[in-house]
Formats: sequence, structure tokens, C-alpha cells
Amino acid sequence: MAQLLDGKAVSKILKEEIREEIAQWKEKGVQPKLAVILVGDDPASVVYARSKQKVCEGIGMAFELFTMPGSTLEADVLSKIEELNNDQAVHGIMIELPLPKGIQKETIMAAVRPDKDVDGVHPINRGYILSGEDGLFPATPQSCIELLLRSGVQIAGKHVVIVGRGETVGKPLVFLILKHNATVTICHSKTPDLGAFTRQADILVAAVGRAKLIKKDMVKAGAIVVDAGINETPDGICGDVDFEAVQDVADLISPVPGGVGSLTTALIMRNVLKGIVLQGGAK
Ligand code: NAP
Repeated sequence: MAQLLDGKAVSKILKEEIREEIAQWKEKGVQPKLAVILVGDDPASVVYARSKQKVCEGIGMAFELFTMPGSTLEADVLSKIEELNNDQAVHGIMIELPLPKGIQKETIMAAVRPDKDVDGVHPINRGYILSGEDGLFPATPQSCIELLLRSGVQIAGKHVVIVGRGETVGKPLVFLILKHNATVTICHSKTPDLGAFTRQADILVAAVGRAKLIKKDMVKAGAIVVDAGINETPDGICGDVDFEAVQDVADLISPVPGGVGSLTTALIMRNVLKGIVLQGGAK
């Protein structure tokens, strides 16, 4: 029976580290601050924004939410971003997705200053992932890596098979995990005989968005399984891995919920702190 990759436990440690770092910044006269822009009233986005606010309050980070009606023009969102880009008291900017129709996601993402882009979606930060330079990188692929490293898993030298080449998780993870000296295979919807690839994985990462796609017979005995998927089903939230069955063959497995997703908010906050350094630190 597999042991759990416990996202909640890792998240608690991460938040403690971040809280300490925030206290150190405050001693230097810097109050770390995250600004979130919410356009429209998508219910999930409202919940995500509020949960970030709660985490910020718990760790001593300042938080400001800018809500704009769904009818807001793209130009008005851009001018709010410009204002926050120029505000020295704001160190991280996040735009909740999805955006209402008529507002181009790519235009908005590219408008945030790269060193305040705590979601890691600006083209410059995407480029830094490829080049190996330091920048701000998306939280979910970072979560997969933190969960492994902080659970004592050595990534270097392992064969990591990633299922999913999405822009949010799979694709950035390829480059972040390469930096940890793994050998990487990436699979997607056009991969024939997916199981033939997943069975070769020492570490298998599922980032697909298909409930329980990864079955027991697709996993090598003793493998480490990281499930980044979040799927709403009539029975509740589940991952991309058939957890109940796969835990019989894997050595370590992350649950959903309680795995990868538990770390993401903390890692956004860690990006805010990295942003302060990229912006020149205490002046
Ligand atoms: P995405 O952009 O929709 O990408 C999904 C990927 O899965 C695509 O590359 C697609 O292949 C591949 N795929 C679809 N069906 C497949 C199949 N049957 N076999 C193999 N590959 C298949 O998704 P994403 O935004 O990267 O997100 C991936 C998952 O992570 C989702 O469940 C999402 O909810 C979750 N997520 C979790 C968090 C978190 O905090 N834990 C955050 C963000 C996202 P093609 O490229 O060929 O279409």
C-alpha cells in the first residue's frame, strides 16, 4: 500500500517559512503585498480570491482585491494593471481567470510587469523557464516538485513521465523538472498506447483533467505518482489517477484533494516574496 505525498503537511511547513520571511521583510521596512484583480462574478474565481485573502491574513501579507464588473472594458483592466505595475507598495499582481468575453487573456497577461507576475504567465517568464534563467514560475508545476522534494524523493536521474502538455501544468513542468536532472517523457491526447509510456515512469505526473484516467495497470510497481488533476464528478472532486486502485501498486501517491492543490496558494505567496527580490528588494 502506497504512502501519501501529503500536500497539507508540506503546505503547513511552506506557510511557516513564508511567514518568517515576511517578518524579516517587515523588519527591513517592506510590507509584502499581493493585489488581485477580479473581473466579473465567476463564482469559483470569487472563492479563489477570498481564499488567497485568508492565506495572506494568516501569514502577514497585505492583500488588496480589485473587483470590476463583467461589463468592464479591456482598456480599463489594462489601466488598473498599469497603476499596480507602478505602485511600489504592490509586489505581486494576479488576474483571476476566466475573464469575461471581449477581454483578451493574452493581452492582459502580457501587461503585468514580469517581476510582479506571480502567476508566471507573462511571455518573458515563460521564456525564462525554457532558458533556465530565474523568473516567476507558475504555482502548480512548482507544487509537484515541492511535494516530491519535501517528501524526500530524489528527482535527479529518475525517469519522469508527464501526462498532459497544457500551458498551466504539463508544459512548464517539463522544463522545471529537467532542471532537477530527471529524464523526461511527455504524453498527451495523441500519444498512442499511453500505458506503454506511463509504465516506464519512476515518477508519473498526471496533469490532464480526465477523472481517473490513470489506471492500476498503467503504473509500474513501486512508482511515485503525482496527481495534479482536479475533476468535479457527481461523487465529488477527484484527480486524474484512479487513487483507490493505484495505491496498491505505487510506493508514494498524492491524493486529490490534499495533494498538489494544497500547495499552490502558498507558492503564489512565495512568488510574491521572490518578486520583491526581483524588483530590487528593500530600497
Ligand atoms: P489543459 O491545458 O486542458 O491540458 C490538458 C492536457 O491533457 C493536454 O495536453 C491534453 O492533450 C492532455 N489530454 C487530454 N486527454 C488526454 C488523454 N485521454 N490522454 C492523454 N492526455 C490527454 O489542462 P491544464 O490547465 O494543464 O490542467 C491539467 C489538470 O490540472 C486539470 O485537471 C486542471 O484542473 C488541473 N489543475 C490543477 C491545479 C492545482 O492547483 N492542483 C491548477 C491548475 C490546473 P492535447 O495537448 O493533445 O490536447
